[in-house]
Amino acid sequence: SKIKEGLKKTRESFSASLDNMLGSYTEIDESLFEQLEELLVMADTGVPTAERICEEVKKRVKAQRVTDPTQIFEMLRETVAEMIAGDEELHVRTKPSIILVIGVNGVGKTTTIGKIASRLRQEKKKVLLAAADTFRAAAIEQLEVWAERSGSEIVKHPEGSDPASVVYDAIAAAKSRGTDVVICDTAGRLHNKKNLMDELAKINRIIDRELPDADKEVLLVLDATTGQNAVNQAREFQNVANLTGIVLTKLDGTARGGVVLAIREELKLPVKFIGVGEQVDDLQPFDAKAFSEALFT
Ligand code: GDP
Repeated sequence: SKIKEGLKKTRESFSASLDNMLGSYTEIDESLFEQLEELLVMADTGVPTAERICEEVKKRVKAQRVTDPTQIFEMLRETVAEMIAGDEELHVRTKPSIILVIGVNGVGKTTTIGKIASRLRQEKKKVLLAAADTFRAAAIEQLEVWAERSGSEIVKHPEGSDPASVVYDAIAAAKSRGTDVVICDTAGRLHNKKNLMDELAKINRIIDRELPDADKEVLLVLDATTGQNAVNQAREFQNVANLTGIVLTKLDGTARGGVVLAIREELKLPVKFIGVGEQVDDLQPFDAKAFSEALFT
């Protein structure tokens, strides 16, 4: 499957070492758990999450009176699947509904918007993209390419315009044209937090005023190749926006797939999609069970 293929690098470095490690033990003892924790941290789960996982597995070992080290594999799979499960569904039932997409430049924000638009178009939904990253002309142009590619409409203003007014116009257009989903691109500047916060607050005020009863998703896009840094980024964005979920891109390019565990455990945010390549169908709805199975096989 796509998920299995996308997690190849993480699996090859992590599961292979795990297999080796478990094979070197004849019984389950404290040092096995120490090594397990180390391997988890190396796969970028972060220390608190690695500790939590080990505690959980230990509990299971005790409760089920497991003595064979190789059975730990199966227990990890179950533990992790439960740990990373969340509200994986994208809630876009009202007409229109709105998805606000945020994240720093380069993480794959525009590509993600294009891929989500394509998915919704395949479900025969009418999609409108709002080019509210007015900070860069290139961002507007790129979004136009994706609008065309996915068969979506686009609302854009010239570079430097007020992002909130783009969102206002997009919502007005969506209402009059019978659009199903509006997807808003936003500028991804974290270094100027005050600006970003003000801008997002203004956009949110407009959405809440114009679409008070609409389904609204606020998705943060994170680049998995940045590992623990992605978790830190998420924490900062959590302070400035009411996030409803995470999109984790570029999992195919990294052995740091454990970052999904850290995000779920430390931020308590659901992962909605994972990116496992550059093609349109490489954005996969997140499936905790499939993810855990792909990791531990
Ligand atoms: P933005 O600046 O955040 O809007 O980033 P872009 O959407 O322009 O993406 C930056 C680069 O990352 C592009 O070359 C994308 O093709 C690539 N990219 C995005 N998602 C993925 C993914 O899941 N896997 C891989 N391998 N590349 C991706």
